[in-house]
Amino acid sequence: MGKELTGLQVYKFGGASVKDAAAILNLCRIVRDFGPGGPLLIVVSAMGKTTNALEEIYDLAYHGRDYSAQLAASRAYHQKAHDELRQQLSFYNKSYGIKNSPILLFDELDNKLAQISANGNYDEWYDQIVSYGETISAHMVGNALASYKLERQVFWAPASAMIQTDTTWREGGVDWTTTGLESKAFTDKLLAGKNRVIVTEGFIGGTPDGRTTTLGREGSDYSAAIFAYCLNAESVTIWKDVPGLLNADPKIFPDTVLYPEISYQETIEMAFYGASVIHPKTLKPLAERRIPLRVKSFLNPEAPGTLIHNCQHPPLVPAFIRKAGQCLLSFESKDFAFISEENLEVIFGALAQARLKINLMQNSAISFSVCTDYSELRVQRLLALLRGQFRVQYNTDLTLFTIKHYDQPSIEQLTAERVLLLEQRTRSTFQFLVRE
Ligand code: ASP
Ligand code: MG
Repeated sequence: MGKELTGLQVYKFGGASVKDAAAILNLCRIVRDFGPGGPLLIVVSAMGKTTNALEEIYDLAYHGRDYSAQLAASRAYHQKAHDELRQQLSFYNKSYGIKNSPILLFDELDNKLAQISANGNYDEWYDQIVSYGETISAHMVGNALASYKLERQVFWAPASAMIQTDTTWREGGVDWTTTGLESKAFTDKLLAGKNRVIVTEGFIGGTPDGRTTTLGREGSDYSAAIFAYCLNAESVTIWKDVPGLLNADPKIFPDTVLYPEISYQETIEMAFYGASVIHPKTLKPLAERRIPLRVKSFLNPEAPGTLIHNCQHPPLVPAFIRKAGQCLLSFESKDFAFISEENLEVIFGALAQARLKINLMQNSAISFSVCTDYSELRVQRLLALLRGQFRVQYNTDLTLFTIKHYDQPSIEQLTAERVLLLEQRTRSTFQFLVRE
């Protein structure tokens, strides 16, 4: 099935697609039977829910508590997959940088955990620890691919040396120029022979002085887009446990519909409103270089999935997007004055400083309201900044629903028997906030 292509393709495999030995074998089969004939870069996420587990381990370690049971459990989980892969594949890893025993990385991790000091920067240490999930997983996948008789050579390239970021820990800001140079330098060499596969980690980058950063939770999609942009890839494929881009999350809404084809713009908006299928930062670099993005199911690789690219399409069926964990903040000037541009300037400045992103806003004569993702720490920071000048009230535990391409039946379906705390509609989008 492999097609002859000259350009590089990028495949991203998320946590569910590498969650155990069977899943990793399925990944190998996809690469063998559905992969391109030409060069391929594979971007790998941490196995299953490993990132959550590492966050917990890290938090315990930082606070000087015992994490040994949780670490042992994560190690055992990876060891089991490794042992099963060894049984199924006669390992003959010709090791082009791929570790034969990725489980030994747990020893390294254990050492790092022991070095954490309570007065260290929490977010910086987080990146040094939590990034191990991807490194271990990518070496496991590389090992399996190298032993799977793909008739391709499999090479390792470390993401932390290719994606260069600033020191915004846990949300590294990409230095596109250096990343372009570094990722080309690594991959040009490795891809000099055709028919090669390079394996790297999703989610992580590195600072110029060699410290590891992460790109934000669920950031492996973004990694794939960064590589595709910098290496001028022909296309990106994200392998997921859903058949493609759907008009709603099937875990929440019944009767979902698949979009066979959709534009970058539409997808960017859906990701912005909270559709969880693609990390929101992923689309921009791809749209800029017009690199098509395919979303396909690793459970059904024959199916065409969704093609996201530069296209005109017929009107789309309504898309339903639910974003939980919202907070509605309203501001009134203490002297009951109208909300002025000067007031708004102060409020926006404080929101930016507190790193609260606005999902929706509305104003009336004397009050201004915004809906943001709730973070207690950030809201407290905002209150401290604005309390002197404004009366601030807020409600938490709210859910924001967005219907793109709404029609009357779709609004009725979603709003029936719900008390709307705030609603807003434009020509194409209907949004409302409720307490569920
Ligand atoms: N493993 C990371 C996370 O779960 C990154 C990713 O999966 O995209 O957030
Ligand atoms: Mg993940």
